[in-house]
Amino acid sequence: MRFEEGRVDPDALRVVRKLEQSGYQAYIVGGAVRDLLVGRRAKDFDIATNARPEDVKRVFRSNCRIIGRRFRLAHVFFGWGARQFEVATFRRKPIGVDEEGDDLLIRSDNAFGDAHEDAERRDFTINALFYDHDRGEILDWVGGLVDIERRVVRTIGDPDVRFREDPVRILRAIKFAARLDFGIDPDGYDAIVAHRDELGRSARPRLFEEILRLLRGGAARRSIYLAWDTGVLAVILPELSAYLDDGDLDGGAARRVFRALAEIDRMTAERGGPLDDLVLLAVLLREPIREWSEGAKTREEWRVAVDEKIAEIGERMAITRRTAEGLSRIYAADARLRAGRSGGFLATPLGPLARDLAVVGLVADGAPAERIEKLRTLVIPSPSEHRMEAVDHGPRRGGARDGGARDAGPRERTRF
Ligand code: ATP
Ligand code: MG
Repeated sequence: MRFEEGRVDPDALRVVRKLEQSGYQAYIVGGAVRDLLVGRRAKDFDIATNARPEDVKRVFRSNCRIIGRRFRLAHVFFGWGARQFEVATFRRKPIGVDEEGDDLLIRSDNAFGDAHEDAERRDFTINALFYDHDRGEILDWVGGLVDIERRVVRTIGDPDVRFREDPVRILRAIKFAARLDFGIDPDGYDAIVAHRDELGRSARPRLFEEILRLLRGGAARRSIYLAWDTGVLAVILPELSAYLDDGDLDGGAARRVFRALAEIDRMTAERGGPLDDLVLLAVLLREPIREWSEGAKTREEWRVAVDEKIAEIGERMAITRRTAEGLSRIYAADARLRAGRSGGFLATPLGPLARDLAVVGLVADGAPAERIEKLRTLVIPSPSEHRMEAVDHGPRRGGARDGGARDAGPRERTRF
């Protein structure tokens, strides 16, 4: 089968053709093939080839840069760097990972292989399809086409093994199921529940990035619901999980959280792209932080409580200092906005972000439509960027993970 011309990136096809003309095999692989098959617009067109990174460099010369240490691959540029494609050499499954035998965690992933082996080392069957546009073929060694038809996320091989090899795949399974509205195959679901604690073994910056991806993709509500339902949320964000567990679904807590997430998804669809990471994170942590700071009697007390909680969660999620500071400021701005005091900060880069957060907050709280609308139109959205890089602060401390949000003191709302 062949996708319509307009749906496949012409520059990606140029990369594939040039590699083939140079005597190599090359395919469009992974997410793009999956998204095209389910009828979505494909985002990144990743390319897999039997050319080694140095070979790719030789073919594309100054339009190519080799990157990565754990996973070396080539970036090929078009239009003076405006467009960029990932060209990865076929890999096979890493073997002999650890002497202890019981430890399956993959630590290095650079053994080259052939196309078939490359398909099998991938995470899910729906992500392992190889597309050859010119021949009009999809190569499927793992049953991915059937799973796309049945709308199911299934690991390639034994899910117990695959999730233990790389626990971040647990979050990826949730992300794909939520985003595509697919089911997770029952054995995979059981394996997620069984191995969710092993997420603690993955590098925190990777975890943090995957959590952001759960929120960016337009299916934040389904993602967080699935994470909660599988008990994964209790591992990655115990504060929020405990909050949802305690709240009564009808009146309160959980309903507010899921309404907020649904609003994120609505705004993401409306804008045709994700909200700022800082807003996403602020919405995610909003209820636990609010509960934690409820007892504050003065603005100063409130700020101290909020910062304390941000620092605690930030440490666990490997949030940078800059992001933590951004969070602190956006929460303060949100409080002022909701109290009807916009002030000069709306003109600052954080202004539109605080506005987004305040809108989501009002929607979550079920505020009257006019009030939401007034806030929504308060400032003209401006494209402000606050992409966050996570920093690994080394191994995570063990011990208590319960945020202690329950001891937050008297239940009064503080107003500023
Ligand atoms: P998205 O639309 O979110 O980018 P994607 O499928 O393209 O989805 P990427 O994270 O960009 O996901 O990864 C590209 C491909 O690399 C995946 O489709 C999958 O085949 C493979 N892959 C990514 N992460 C893993 C992993 N942890 N284990 C095995 N294979 C992986
Ligand atoms: Mg991708």
